[in-house]
Amino acid sequence: MLIGSALALGVVVAAAASGESNGGGNDPPPPGDDKRQRPKQGPPPDQVAVGQPSDPAIAAWLAELDAYLSREVPRVGWTARELTTMPKAPGAPVAIPPRSLWANMVPTLRLLVELRRRMGDEPLSLRAYRPPDYDRAVAGGGTSLHTYFAAIDIRHPDRRRLARTAARLVLDRPDESIGFGVYGAGPSGSPSNIHLDTGWRRRTWEHARAWLDNAKAGNA
Ligand SMILES: [Zn+2]
Repeated sequence: MLIGSALALGVVVAAAASGESNGGGNDPPPPGDDKRQRPKQGPPPDQVAVGQPSDPAIAAWLAELDAYLSREVPRVGWTARELTTMPKAPGAPVAIPPRSLWANMVPTLRLLVELRRRMGDEPLSLRAYRPPDYDRAVAGGGTSLHTYFAAIDIRHPDRRRLARTAARLVLDRPDESIGFGVYGAGPSGSPSNIHLDTGWRRRTWEHARAWLDNAKAGNA
């Protein structure tokens, strides 16, 4: 491995974004023919750097991604490492998205920072980037906004407060192209996690609509 080369990455996975396979599962549906409205930085990544943060090349890229994002967004409650970890892949490596996708995370991260502030600055557990092959493996269908580095999945021990607070935040931004998903349960239950994305179009799925209605009714 050539030290100092931009290509000297632990493993470079060629994740050809072929086809629009919809694996079903729990993330936003694929866009169909609506690709033109995808984030401008698209197309989906065709090369992804995967490796352990202990690898010097990966560590350097993580630091670069951290620096890039923190120029745009207060570095409160997030790290590039947390946004790029693939917990369900063997060894839980990080996957660093192609540079052309980095800007997609900025507006979503701004939303996240505001959500965290409304949650009383309590720590949130985050998952964000998924290469297309990993997205397919975890039921995102291979074309979810996670593959564009535009989506974050968020957990907090107080699941109901998280969903309620996120719904209020989405309601407060009626003109923004936010994707909002709430998984596991509606307002009468205990949801497992939420999803936020930006840059495509405003939409909801799973139990998100019920949580928005609940917030609208003044229960937030
Ligand atoms: Zn998601």
